[in-house]
Amino acid sequence: MKIEVLVIGGGIVGLSCAAESAKNGFSTLLVERHESFGQETSSRNSEVIHSGIYYQPGSLKAKLCVTANHNLYKECERSGVWTKRCGKLIVAVTQEERKPLEELYKRGLANGVGELVLLDAIQAKRIEPYIKCCAAIYVLSTGIIDSHQLMKSYLSEAKSFGADFAFNVNFVGGERKNYLFDVRLRDTDGHLTTLEAEYVINAAGLQSDKVAQAFGINIDTAGYRLHYNRGHYYSVSPSKGKLISHLVYPIPLKHLVSVGIHTAIDKAGRVRLGPDHEYLDQSIPEIDWYKFDDTRKEKFLKAVQSYFPALQLSDLSPDQVGVRPKLKGSESEVKDFIIQEESVKGLSGLVNLIGIESPGLTCAREIAREVIRRIVDIS
Ligand SMILES: Cc1cc2nc3c(=O)[nH]c(=O)nc-3n(C[C@H](O)[C@H](O)[C@H](O)COP(=O)(O)OP(=O)(O)OC[C@H]3O[C@@H](n4cnc5c(N)ncnc54)[C@H](O)[C@@H]3O)c2cc1C
Repeated sequence: MKIEVLVIGGGIVGLSCAAESAKNGFSTLLVERHESFGQETSSRNSEVIHSGIYYQPGSLKAKLCVTANHNLYKECERSGVWTKRCGKLIVAVTQEERKPLEELYKRGLANGVGELVLLDAIQAKRIEPYIKCCAAIYVLSTGIIDSHQLMKSYLSEAKSFGADFAFNVNFVGGERKNYLFDVRLRDTDGHLTTLEAEYVINAAGLQSDKVAQAFGINIDTAGYRLHYNRGHYYSVSPSKGKLISHLVYPIPLKHLVSVGIHTAIDKAGRVRLGPDHEYLDQSIPEIDWYKFDDTRKEKFLKAVQSYFPALQLSDLSPDQVGVRPKLKGSESEVKDFIIQEESVKGLSGLVNLIGIESPGLTCAREIAREVIRRIVDIS
């Protein structure tokens, strides 16, 4: 069997790549190791449409996120995917946090994030009466989305342009031979199939470094090795959840390890808190990554009570765990998304997507457009 574009991974990024690829006229096949799409990071996140305020000016994260925020609401309106432009407050709780808040505001302006307003304590209280702060940034363009619906719409779009999907199929290896990739796939019964692909898009999320390695790339030399960083969510009792109507975020952690434990609101109006951050010991088996560790309740309460004092320990119940594919082992450096067409490594036509952490859900369509641009450039 021979196809033009093989997409490895059926999360939000793989699905959007399949849609863009098929729309551009390439014969497209997406393979996903689970029985359905979106079983990993794409269904374990805050479902926030980010504005682009946080990221280094000029970085892919900043550029793609600002564009994505602008395009995604309109796209979802057309495709019937639920979104809500609920807005977000980033709060300075102490006087010391005013300076980093102002720096963040300037960064947002530098990135071209529209509709940013600096608020004093009284103005912030008018918007969120139960939130305590001495100043805040009001980011009007931030919103929330039904991520499952978005994935379904990318799947339908890809199918409408003729893309094929193979679930329960694991990519196990590949090499470049005679201007094509020979790709080995194994189904859940253990059957091995080989197919030829002109282009391969590695959208394997948490496994994307291993997929790159399977094509013979040295992931340490290339800087592709991933470090797994786990984040827990607690849900908030409805009686306290109804006291807030915006997303509320603290000042982000240094070097953007995390944007901090914030409030997240879903389509049903349910409020969650999270995610925290913790690098996973590489020896922990994948099956245990998503086990909820309830020993962190007090830590969550302390973090969130600083800006949402009405919250009590009894308001929190365990929700879910997500895992970030981080491109760093230390907290010293902010890494960008890697979108790399691998001609320089002798693997022309392989596009690796590595370290697609937040804002990857927001940016999925823009990442896919970037990937297809790179494929079209070499075709
Ligand atoms: C805690 C948390 C909160 C977040 N919050 C937000 C947010 O609010 N807003 C936002 O924009 N982003 C957010 N993100 C980031 C966003 O969720 C991710 O960037 C996005 O979901 C990544 O999608 P993906 O398709 O790359 O990866 P995934 O969803 O992980 O998909 C990868 C797929 O590849 C498959 N796969 C892996 N290996 C193979 C193989 N060998 N063969 C076949 N299939 C394979 C997997 O089974 C999986 O389905 C958050 C992330 C986390 C962890």
